[in-house]
Amino acid sequence: AKWVYAFGAGSADGAQGDKNLLGGKGANLAEMARLGLPVPPGFTLTTEVCTAFYENDRAYPDTLAEQVEAGLKALEEKVGKTFGDPKNPLLVSVRSGARASMPGMMDTVLNLGLNDETAEGLAELSGDRRFALDSYRRFITMYSDVVLEVPHSTFEELLERFKEDRDYTLDTEISAEEWEELIVEYKAAVHNALGHPFPTDPRDQLWGAIGAVFSSWMNDRAITYRRMYDIPASWGTAVNVQAMVFGNMGNTSATGVAFTRDPSTGEKGYYGEFLINAQGEDVVAGIRTPQCLTKVMREKMGDSQPSMEEAMPAVYGQLVDVFDTLERHYRDMQDIEFTVEQGRLWMLQTRNGKRTARAALKIAVDMVEDKLISEEEAVMRVEPGALDQLLHPTIDESYERDVITKGLPASPGAASGKVVFDADEAEHMAKLGDKVILVRVETSPEDIHGMHAAQAIVTARGGMTSHAAVVARGMGRPCVSGAGEIKINLEAGTFTVRGRTIKQGEMITVDGSTGEVLAGEAKMIKPELTGDFASLMVWADRARRMKVRTNAETPADVQTAKEFGAEGIGLCRTEHMFFDADRIAAVREMILAEDQQGRVKALSKILPMQRDDFAEIFRIMEDRPCTIRLLDPPLHEFLPHTDEEVKAVAEATGLPGEALLERARSLAESNPMLGHRGCRLGITYPEIYEMQARAIFEAQTIVEKETGVKPVAEVMIPLVAVAKELEILKVRIEAVARQVESETGTAPVYLIGTMIELPRAALRANDIAKHAEFFSFGTNDLTQTTFGLSRDDAGRFLADYLEAQIFEKDPFVSLDQDGVGDLIRIAVGRGRSTRENLKLGICGEHGGDPASIRFCEEVGLDYVSCSPYRVPIARLAAAQSAL
Ligand code: ADP
Ligand code: MG
Ligand code: MG
Repeated sequence: AKWVYAFGAGSADGAQGDKNLLGGKGANLAEMARLGLPVPPGFTLTTEVCTAFYENDRAYPDTLAEQVEAGLKALEEKVGKTFGDPKNPLLVSVRSGARASMPGMMDTVLNLGLNDETAEGLAELSGDRRFALDSYRRFITMYSDVVLEVPHSTFEELLERFKEDRDYTLDTEISAEEWEELIVEYKAAVHNALGHPFPTDPRDQLWGAIGAVFSSWMNDRAITYRRMYDIPASWGTAVNVQAMVFGNMGNTSATGVAFTRDPSTGEKGYYGEFLINAQGEDVVAGIRTPQCLTKVMREKMGDSQPSMEEAMPAVYGQLVDVFDTLERHYRDMQDIEFTVEQGRLWMLQTRNGKRTARAALKIAVDMVEDKLISEEEAVMRVEPGALDQLLHPTIDESYERDVITKGLPASPGAASGKVVFDADEAEHMAKLGDKVILVRVETSPEDIHGMHAAQAIVTARGGMTSHAAVVARGMGRPCVSGAGEIKINLEAGTFTVRGRTIKQGEMITVDGSTGEVLAGEAKMIKPELTGDFASLMVWADRARRMKVRTNAETPADVQTAKEFGAEGIGLCRTEHMFFDADRIAAVREMILAEDQQGRVKALSKILPMQRDDFAEIFRIMEDRPCTIRLLDPPLHEFLPHTDEEVKAVAEATGLPGEALLERARSLAESNPMLGHRGCRLGITYPEIYEMQARAIFEAQTIVEKETGVKPVAEVMIPLVAVAKELEILKVRIEAVARQVESETGTAPVYLIGTMIELPRAALRANDIAKHAEFFSFGTNDLTQTTFGLSRDDAGRFLADYLEAQIFEKDPFVSLDQDGVGDLIRIAVGRGRSTRENLKLGICGEHGGDPASIRFCEEVGLDYVSCSPYRVPIARLAAAQSAL
């Protein structure tokens, strides 16, 4: 087998496409060599060596040594130097490189091949003794650190003491002779630490470094990283052995890193830093302040040191040519590492550059305009999840952050406002025109109006899927959850964090993208929804098959979603409307009623309010379909529970407190999620669903008369398990529709369907589809009921399950495609076997998750529905799934 691939001087055994075999770095070095760019020659030990190494108990393949020897020989010929030759030594770097760039892997070793004799040879050959010794001490430090595991600090301490003794501040004050003294100390320290001397034979050094790279594939850092990013251990890493070029050969030498465009804004224009008379990672290591690459950049930053463009104009010109060649060739923004050795440019690395969402968008759109890539490619270039950053205001980078505390980044975006601790107070202050931030220990459904009125939400307790987090994401409010340092003192009207006290009414800023809570009002950058963003969305819409709807019920959210491109409502949760201040009393009255007559009376008070709610939604959505779910939660959720709450409610509404408490007790369930809710309420109390259906149909006729546009309603019955449930309720709802038609003379346009959120419903989809014109997969509940796991309680052990890899991902965030997915596949197949044109959608939180959206495309759903702020993400993800 071929284990070793050579590259350099106009040709290479491998190429760009061989990433799996050569790793990213190796494949791109080969490709640059093929393109005729100046790449120091070398060879790559393939990732298959790594795999074989681990399959054979950490032993190398038999022919590897021969092939490395042959590679070395060819390399010596190419550069005209010999490895280990004291007169004319070849030095190499040993660099790891997996398919995906991976922190945690072994660091690069430079200047390998040096010992006392070859260092002497290098000094003579270069005529620069200081350079040779500088390279030597760097080599000992790096090699000891990464291969021998003698920590870097050992050498730093020796160096510091050495400088202190002589009153030096800079390394550059150290003379060649003094470096020589230090090198003796360095070697002694290694000997002391290991019990044997630093290896002097270059071949031992080389194999030591190769072994260290392969071993680092299985170190803890690398394993953790792979787990986090789903990188299989079987991929392995490659090792690159490459002839050294020297950026530390005096003032005509340098080393640098560059991007072909600005990686944070995406602006056209080269971007980067370099250091004169330096080597390798000096630029990133922050030992000296690097200089700007271009004049424009230097002027913008007000830097006093000359830019590379000014200091080394000729080489800079060559570098710019290389940038253009690489961008045209790779058709993407490149992240480049280079070295200048005595006025000569060498390319050491190129790869597609990491970038912010803003830059990704701008670069993709610019590249379409420049005809470098197609519209479809541009659509594939932007990560849907990253759009989140663009849709919300963000804190200006130049703003000085005064961080009070940090919690979980539960809902992205940033907002400032005055601290309030109570939902009613939040609503009240917002009505008076104040911007407020709701700070709570945790939130519950009763706080929804306050959350809506607030600019952002902070909770001391709760995780990424806590009530606060889920609701805030749905509303597009920034949220920091689980900020455990926050201690709220309601009586004093303050919260404290480690001795720092913030009063009610004080201005704070919440950064839901980082989880930080800041003091004061931050400077913000508004989201940009026109221009590049709009262009990309047009291309995405052209490419996608599935429709994108939204989960929304308040007019503000419906409006936002429409602006973000929602093509309908996939889930309007009517119970959210029941909590509103003007009707909760009537809702409670309805629940307290002794008999049907009493309920009907209370419901008649709610009817006009619900009708207005729906009319408002239809006006905004015009002829886009609106799926409205009839009442879903168990009734006790609307009642107060503690004595204090009961007292307050009784006073406020005039309802008898005793009766309230009594009713709350009698409705209490030991397992509410699986209790008397959804269509089960509709069966027991048909008048509730009839009132809601009437409100929907009447609203349709009103809006149609008013605007001439026919609203389209999809009436959704929740929690159906048995076809008969739906059959009974459907008959009743149809009767209401006929009544409304005869009363108003207008026939409402509607479908009746159900949410598939119970395993039985999925399995019996063929029966259910006899009565359902559409299915909407309620994957939140379907996940709960399939796993037999309550979302509210999962937080306690979810981390353990992720840690133990029982769950790959949180199944409430990304759909469990095997289990829950199987039920969906079954339901789709069986449902459509009964009713060919059955309309299919998804309305759980998963409807906004790109991986889950891909699944929806695969099983052939008609639409996905998600919270308003995720609509653009879903549009892009749906497009990518279709391409
Ligand atoms: P990383 O993957 O951490 O970026 P690299 O293998 O790219 O590590 O090496 C880091 C730096 O070391 C390079 O950017 C370059 O400056 C320097 N380097 C690597 N190989 C050589 C070489 N053959 N000659 C000169 N410098 C090198
Ligand atoms: Mg690199
Ligand atoms: Mg449900």
